[in-house]
Amino acid sequence: MIDLENLTIEKAHEALTKRQFSCVDLAEAYLKVIKEKNTEINAYLEVYDDVILQAKAADKRLAEGSATLMTGIPVAVKDNILITGRVVSSGSKILENYKGTYDATVIKKLKDAGAVFLGRTNMDEFAMGVSTENSAFGVTKNPYDTKRVPGGSSGGSTAAIAMNGALVALGTDTGGSCRQPASFCGVVGLKPTYGSVSRHGLTAMGSSLDVVGSIAKNVSDVEILFNSIKGEDKMDSTSREFLHKKEIAGKPTIGIPHDFIKEGVDKRVLDNFEKVIKKLKSAGFIIKDVELPYVKYSVPAYYIVTPAEISANLARFDGIRYGYAAPAGNLLEVYKKSRGKGFGKEVRRRIMLGTYVLSHGYHDAYYDKANAVRKLIVHDYEKAFKKVDVILTPTTTGPAFKIGEKVNDPVKMYLEDIFTGSANMAGLPAISIPSGFIEEEGKKLPLGVQFMAPHGGEGILFEIGKKFESIFKDGP
Ligand code: GLN
Repeated sequence: MIDLENLTIEKAHEALTKRQFSCVDLAEAYLKVIKEKNTEINAYLEVYDDVILQAKAADKRLAEGSATLMTGIPVAVKDNILITGRVVSSGSKILENYKGTYDATVIKKLKDAGAVFLGRTNMDEFAMGVSTENSAFGVTKNPYDTKRVPGGSSGGSTAAIAMNGALVALGTDTGGSCRQPASFCGVVGLKPTYGSVSRHGLTAMGSSLDVVGSIAKNVSDVEILFNSIKGEDKMDSTSREFLHKKEIAGKPTIGIPHDFIKEGVDKRVLDNFEKVIKKLKSAGFIIKDVELPYVKYSVPAYYIVTPAEISANLARFDGIRYGYAAPAGNLLEVYKKSRGKGFGKEVRRRIMLGTYVLSHGYHDAYYDKANAVRKLIVHDYEKAFKKVDVILTPTTTGPAFKIGEKVNDPVKMYLEDIFTGSANMAGLPAISIPSGFIEEEGKKLPLGVQFMAPHGGEGILFEIGKKFESIFKDGP
């Protein structure tokens, strides 16, 4: 029996190299868990039918001596990342039967490294949401309490990791979609620097904010996955190679934006956060107050900028070029019916908002103004990072909420991004790491904290993240 609960990429690699188990054994172990748990959890929308074949190919590579750290490692893939010949629906009816016509760059890199793709994971439609309740294919349940959401939009990927249904997972993060569900599911989620991982082959949501993120049980696995997918790509003009600065001169300094953290946060989250700070102090970290006066405007600005980009990006789903085509008498009717039936409520809301804020006469009042605020947010962080190495906040304002609790209140949903959205607005790398549990109705519910670093500072996040994990082995 392989101990999936405590498995890491390095441990798996060592066991595979020593032939303690094979890639096929490992894949079978995960498939067994998925079979047992997925009907209830709904983390996967599809488990691929060729997993064992992929694992056999990985075993062959091991035997030939050409294996990498990722060879044979079972990966779950969010349903908005293209793989040739496989369905990629972005959680939407409009793309229900759409198949990828090429491999996303991140997929190509993982294929080259010999990874094994287990299946595609559930998500909020076109990555809009914080709970996976906006998926056209049913909600994913939180493995810690199945009455609760796993977070979103990469909720399927984080639930897959939490239920031991994959060793690592790919997610995407436009305003928090790797970090918020990671926090709700007690796993680690990385949103890398904007541009550090190619977006080629990712279904676009907000192109100036989208990134492909890495999800796993621990920081070291997230680091390995990130290192296998990062890098400049000629297919994505915004991608580039960042200098991943690792060394911090002297003791790492952690900035806390206290003023920003008080409002609307669950008391238990605040208590957990204070304990985290205390423990970090006693472990020798230097804690400093930082001010981020404009960051509180990141949610309102984000919900202007992203709908605008969404309305432009989703114009291509018109019933002619991609996916679902409604039968209709003329071209305009095809557009209207295909989009009306194919898109869910939240997606339609964003398209309408976005079209409005870009329309003549409102462009200056909304879109340009939101972009001006975005610059102020960038400036806030630039100033803060002159004083500190990283910035620490809770990842979310509370633990996982109940399924249905917020579905009729989009603003409550949007406010879930309060701590995460600004890293996307400023393009910064950020990571969510588990910081303990609270108990509610007899269930343990995970909490998480978020570290943010300057552009290209993933190395700092990994270094501090690993120290953090070792200090918090037994909780705060
Ligand atoms: N919650 C945010 C939204 O709904 C972010 C989603 C994401 O990061 N993909 O837009």
